[in-house]
Order: sequence, then C-alpha cells, then structure tokens
Amino acid sequence: MVVIGGGVIGSSAAYFLKSRGASNVVVIEPDPTYSKAATPVATGGCRRLFSLPENIAMSEFSIEFYKNFAQTMMTPGYHADVQWKEGGYLFVVGAQHADALEKNFNTQRANGVAVELLDRAAIANRYPWMKTDDLAVACLSPHDGWLDPNTALQGFRKKAQSLGAQYVTDRVVGLTLSGSQVTGVQLGGGGTLSADYVVNAAGCWSGAVSKLVAMDLPVNPMRRFEHFVEIEEDLPPMPLLKDPERLVVRPEGNGYSVGLVNSDEPRGFNFDVDHTWFERVVWPALAARIPAFESLKLRREWSGLYDECDFDGNMILGNWPGRLDNFFVACGFSGHGLMHAPAVGRALSELIVDKRFETIDLSRLGYQRVLDGKPCPEVGII
Ligand SMILES: Cc1cc2nc3c(=O)[nH]c(=O)nc-3n(C[C@H](O)[C@H](O)[C@H](O)COP(=O)(O)OP(=O)(O)OC[C@H]3O[C@@H](n4cnc5c(N)ncnc54)[C@H](O)[C@@H]3O)c2cc1C
Repeated sequence: MVVIGGGVIGSSAAYFLKSRGASNVVVIEPDPTYSKAATPVATGGCRRLFSLPENIAMSEFSIEFYKNFAQTMMTPGYHADVQWKEGGYLFVVGAQHADALEKNFNTQRANGVAVELLDRAAIANRYPWMKTDDLAVACLSPHDGWLDPNTALQGFRKKAQSLGAQYVTDRVVGLTLSGSQVTGVQLGGGGTLSADYVVNAAGCWSGAVSKLVAMDLPVNPMRRFEHFVEIEEDLPPMPLLKDPERLVVRPEGNGYSVGLVNSDEPRGFNFDVDHTWFERVVWPALAARIPAFESLKLRREWSGLYDECDFDGNMILGNWPGRLDNFFVACGFSGHGLMHAPAVGRALSELIVDKRFETIDLSRLGYQRVLDGKPCPEVGII
C-alpha cells in the first residue's frame, strides 16, 4: 500500500499499518527535511477541549499515546522523547460565549474529561497575572499540554521504518484508476508503483493529490505565524491559554510561544512572514491579556500553513463512498493534526486492515458529509 506524504499523519498511518501486520507499506515523501510541511512548525498543543465527542475521544487516545511515545517508538539509536509537558489548557471567554463554553464543558465532562469551570473571580484568583475584566468564564483541562512536534514526526517515521515501511523520496504526480480502485501511483521521478490501498496524507497538498482522481476536497492552505518571545518578569507556570481574540500563548523554554490565528487569511501557498503582524495585532492582544508582556523581546518568528477545511473546520477521513473504494484521505486538520495524529493513524489502519472503524467511530467525519452538504463543525470552540 502507498501512503502519499510522510508528515506526522502519513508516518503515523505507516506505523499503525506496520504494527498491525500490513505487509508492504511505502511512504512517498518528496522532502525529507520537511521544509514546507506543517508538522515541524506546529505549536505542539494537545487538548481535549472540543465539542464533538469524536474529537474528544481522538484527543484522549492520542494524548495517552504521546505520554508513552518514547517507550512505544523505541528504535535502536533514536530516543523519541516528545518532551510532553502537562501544563493544562485554559480557554477563557466573555459573556457572549459563556453559554457555549459551559455547554462544551458539560459534553467534555460527560465524555470523561477532568475539566474545571471557573468564574471570573476564580480565574482572577488562580491566575493573578491575567486581566479578567472582560471575561465571564473559563474552562481548564489540567491534563492537556504540549510537546515537540518534530520528535513526534521523527518518532513515527523511524519506528515505521524499523518495522519495514519504506520511505521513497519522490512526489506523487499521477494516480492510476481502474473502476472504483486506485491501482497505482506515478512518481515525479518517472517511476510507478502498484498499490492495493492508497492513503492521501499530503496535508496542504492533499487537495491537489485528490484532484488527480477528480475528488474535490474543500481543503486549502491557510498561513499562520508563530512567535517566540521573552519577558523579564518571572510568571508562575501557566497553562496554554486561548482567549476570545484567538490569541494562543504557552511557555516554551525560557520564553513563550505565541500565535494569533487569522481565519480571514487569503488561502494559498504563501510562506512569507509578515513582520508587522506581531506588532500590529499579536502584541497588543497579548499585553492586554497579560500585562507582563507589555515589555518583551521578540526573538524569532516563522510561518506555516494549516490544511484548513473550509467546509466545517474538521478533518476529512476516509474514502469516497461508492466511487473510490481503496483511496483514503486524511486531511483538513485545521490546526489539530498533530494532536490527533495517533488516533488518525490508528483509524486509517482500521479502515484498511479491518475494513471499518473498530475503536472510535469516525464516520461522521467522512467525505460523505461534504457530498451531502452537511457540515459537522465544532461549536463554540475558540
Ligand atoms: C503554525 C502552526 C501551528 C500549529 N499548531 C498546532 C498545534 O498546536 N496542535 C496541533 O494539533 N496542530 C497544530 N498545527 C497543525 C498541524 O501542524 C497539522 O495539522 C499537521 O502537522 C498535519 O500533518 P500532515 O502530516 O497532514 O501534514 P504535513 O506535515 O504538512 O505533511 C504533508 C507532507 O506531504 C508531502 N507532500 C505534498 N505533496 C505531495 C505529493 N504530491 N506526493 C507525496 N508527498 C507530498 C509534503 O512534502 C509534506 O511533508 C499547527 C500548524 C501550524 C502551521
């Protein structure tokens, strides 16, 4: 079987397929340095704070998986220590979004997540360094956290290879179709490979890959910036904080990793860094929320692309029912692909080895909803 794209999703799929006995797994990845891939530039956040039970269940499995990652991914000569930091996740909202946050809190509780709801006084009491005037309520998921994305990718890749998966440095440029089966892939280097199953895990490029078999995916590249800053003041340990401005901040080494998602960002393969974005947008939001950031040093900033699902912001996982039986897409992660990669890799192995979902039923996140025009979005998640 052929996996197109060797990022964290393709490599997780390769690992789970091999560990479940698949005999011949070939991963096609044009760039072993992953210079344009999303995985190495991710913030690393892993949270259970979702509204869809499927997303909560995927996070539950994946976070536990990542906590044991070094052990599970053990290979001679590589220690895949993803440096899991269980700092917690904190969503804070104003009155306008309080009902939605509380509703999601109830869903998360009902799905076994150890979440805590804090009112404004409790937020101010627990996080005295945060401005809370405009806040109504917060949801804390204390056992969520963050990790090193590149080690997650390398860990999956090296373990998959040690189990026999083959990585080929090339690009898929064509797919061979026979009826409802994709029977092979054509490579940019001129070669061809036959395949009994094909997985499209090409991230932002998955739309172009699926187009080769006339499958339209509502998935587009969306640029996002990440900034690393240092401050002079010593703040107590803080969770990963998300606020109503879509500001994200978490500790990183001796500083902080900060981002602010712009959903209106024009779609496309634009990797340029807008060096005014931090000063114009991110810094004011950051200093307004945490005054200790009024004075800071911006040490580094970079860009990366979300594979944004413009249909409903959720992943698209599975085949094209009734049209393409053995071609499975796994894309549209919209900023959540790293945290869900273990669950997605396992799910793909189930679809291929067991012919159906065995653990978490992810049918609602399949391509059929796109064909039916029935979005399955997260609700009230900032
Ligand atoms: C700034 C930023 C912050 C983020 N923060 C988080 C976070 O905190 N938590 C989280 O869970 N997620 C986060 N994400 C999202 C996460 O990084 C992605 O969802 C995830 O990495 C997707 O993995 P992937 O393997 O699908 O894609 P990628 O890592 O992009 O890999 C896709 C691979 O496909 C290859 N490819 C492309 N075309 C072809 C072809 N024709 N043939 C063969 N191979 C091909 C590419 O070379 C690439 O290596 C963030 C993303 C960004 C940009």
